[in-house]
Amino acid sequence: MQATKSNGSWPTEAIVDTVRRYWGFDQLRPLQEAAIRAGLEQRDSLVVLPTGGGKSLCYQVPPVLAERVDVVVSPLISLMKDQVDGLQECGYPAAALHSGMSPAAAADTMRGIGEGNYRLIFVAPERLLTPGFLQIVDRLDVRAFAIDEAHCISHWGHDFRPEYRQMARLKSRFPRASVHAYTATATRRVQQDIVEQLSLVEPAVLVGGFDRPNLVYRIIPREDVRAQVLEAVRRHAGQATIVYCISRRDTESMADYLSERGVRAKHYHAGLTPDQRRRTQDAFAGERIDVVVATVAFGMGIDRSDVRCVIHAGMPKSIEHYQQETGRAGRDGLEAECVLFYSAADAMKWEMLIERSSDEAMADGSVAAAMKELLSHMRRYCSTVTCRHKQLVEYFGQSYERERCEACDVCLGDTEGVEDATVTAQKILSCVARVGERFGVGHVVDVLLGAETERILACRHTELSTHGLLRETPKKTLTGMVYQLVDQGLLERSADEYPVLRLNAESWKVMRGQRTVQLMRAKKEGVKKSKADATSWDGVDRGLFEALRAERRRIAEERGVPAFVVFGDATLRDLARMRPSSLEAMRGVHGIGERKLGEWGEVFLAIVLEYCAKYGVGLDAAEGRVRRGRKR
Ligand code: ADP
Repeated sequence: MQATKSNGSWPTEAIVDTVRRYWGFDQLRPLQEAAIRAGLEQRDSLVVLPTGGGKSLCYQVPPVLAERVDVVVSPLISLMKDQVDGLQECGYPAAALHSGMSPAAAADTMRGIGEGNYRLIFVAPERLLTPGFLQIVDRLDVRAFAIDEAHCISHWGHDFRPEYRQMARLKSRFPRASVHAYTATATRRVQQDIVEQLSLVEPAVLVGGFDRPNLVYRIIPREDVRAQVLEAVRRHAGQATIVYCISRRDTESMADYLSERGVRAKHYHAGLTPDQRRRTQDAFAGERIDVVVATVAFGMGIDRSDVRCVIHAGMPKSIEHYQQETGRAGRDGLEAECVLFYSAADAMKWEMLIERSSDEAMADGSVAAAMKELLSHMRRYCSTVTCRHKQLVEYFGQSYERERCEACDVCLGDTEGVEDATVTAQKILSCVARVGERFGVGHVVDVLLGAETERILACRHTELSTHGLLRETPKKTLTGMVYQLVDQGLLERSADEYPVLRLNAESWKVMRGQRTVQLMRAKKEGVKKSKADATSWDGVDRGLFEALRAERRRIAEERGVPAFVVFGDATLRDLARMRPSSLEAMRGVHGIGERKLGEWGEVFLAIVLEYCAKYGVGLDAAEGRVRRGRKR
């Protein structure tokens, strides 16, 4: 299809037609059109859209529509590979060049590029400015570069990569080409930095809403973290879940714990061999496991769009990290849950790590200071009882208009106050006083529980009046409460190598009964479902959905591609909701473009017809289209 420009600009229909033809979507999301236009018209741009907001489409559409070749710089090989696989399944001509390819495959791709077979070429940042690649760029007369994960260029961001700095040279080396920066997480300061570093000229700055209304955010006081994680995983049984832990060791023990309880889980961290990592990623993408327990090393390459739950067993070190990691949930626009089990202990641990790394590297103090600032925002986010959606959106410099989100622990009322919190706090604080403000959390908790450890016996702490004063409380719950008091400034924890608990003026006010205390805990009856969770399955025949899912898994396995590359969950749900009776009717289903209709239409149609005949379920339900997809 050759689209023509009208009055120097591209008609919206031409853009939408292209999107429909390749991807089967019939609407653009907010800002996608403006971003695509910037690409078509070759105006520099900075596009900030949340994860799952549809950034890739913005740089994928212009080259096919304008019939030219564009280059995309992308930081990770696996990410590129998944994108290229996905594009090829849509019949879109794209290729990637990276160091992970065999010389034969690279030569093959180079030949294809030379023959003009591709519209989009993905390349790693370190390869972009090599003489060989520059030659290709010159020969193909590349007019537009898209920089994915552009925040990596800024040291104010959370994921600074020195190799990204080289891209500052793009504008001077290719003065006629436009540069388009894309990122999901950038505060104002980072946005400014990207524009300056890349020397963008009068860029179109398109910043989307940071809110992700389909995500339910939950911050739950951490007590027995394994049991808490298991409960959350079970809420999403059989669905894709990522559990983030801070240390490698924790990922291993948590994955073992879950596996022993019948969950299909594996661990993932940077200490594994590339081959082990790849296998876990593939098993996850191919739906052979449901849960990956990982450090932050896992994620960049994960393009699975149907992740229904992201769990943080420990607190990330910045809101940017949190936003990026939780952003991996619900990229298909369907509801998903993000739970963080919070304890102030994590904040203290991070602080220590920052101190240590800045000591060791004798790094510039300003980097450590910037990291501490990011950390303190994250800690405040977790310890403040204000709507999570509101807090996140405001952190990124936007305002949140709604009164209640109905999709976070605060608005859904997931936590409740501990009864007699003030009395409990008084008991804890007086125990700190009795042990002479010379012991850490573990010892104080042991004394309150009435334990008789060697240390307690040696110090004769069995004789204290506070010994065994809270023996009814589970140990992990009590530990959590001590950290809550520290977080609220009612108790101090020294910053030494062996930190001890100390009292401050506020502690004394509590002990004298001059102020009351609130302590929170997760509600015993568990968490409530959000509204999105209740409605997004409306009209979907679950049995049919599972039958379609099994077929998807079979095809994916046969082809050796991730399952979501065949069809996303949103498409399967829409099929199981509309239950089309013909290929023609199938055209109306979300996410089915020409290519996929031709390729898999028959197979999936047969399943729908067979299932509906067998169970007497009606075909061609009209309401499907109204409810599908996300409304942004
Ligand atoms: P990002 O790169 O911003 O994280 P993606 O480009 O991966 O997001 O898009 C997220 C999901 O949304 C993908 O499954 C994609 O196919 C889908 N998507 C993108 N644009 C649209 C659209 N206009 N209508 C429906 N789905 C879309």
